Amino acid sequence: MLRDIQTVGECAKCGAEAAVTCRYNHFERPEEELVIDAWEHKCANCGIRETTAYRSDDPEEEHPEDSRKCPYCGRDGTA
Ligand SMILES: [Zn+2]
Ligand SMILES: [Zn+2]
Repeated sequence: MLRDIQTVGECAKCGAEAAVTCRYNHFERPEEELVIDAWEHKCANCGIRETTAYRSDDPEEEHPEDSRKCPYCGRDGTA
C-alpha cells in the first residue's frame, strides 16, 4: 500500500494559504484482482473535503487510465 500526502496550496473556500493537502492512497489485492486509487483533498483550516475513489471492480464507474492522477490538482501519484 502506498500513502502519499502533499500540500497543494490555497483553499478555494476559505482562502487559507498552504492549507489544502492532497492525499493519495493506492491499494492492491492481487488475490481479488482489485485495485483502488483513492484521492482526497482536505483543508486544514475550514475542514472542507473532497474525495474520489476508483475501484477496478466497480462496474458502474469507469476506471480511467489516469486514475493515478489527482482529479482535483492533476498531480501524478506515482511520481
Ligand atoms: Zn478552507
Ligand atoms: Zn490533488
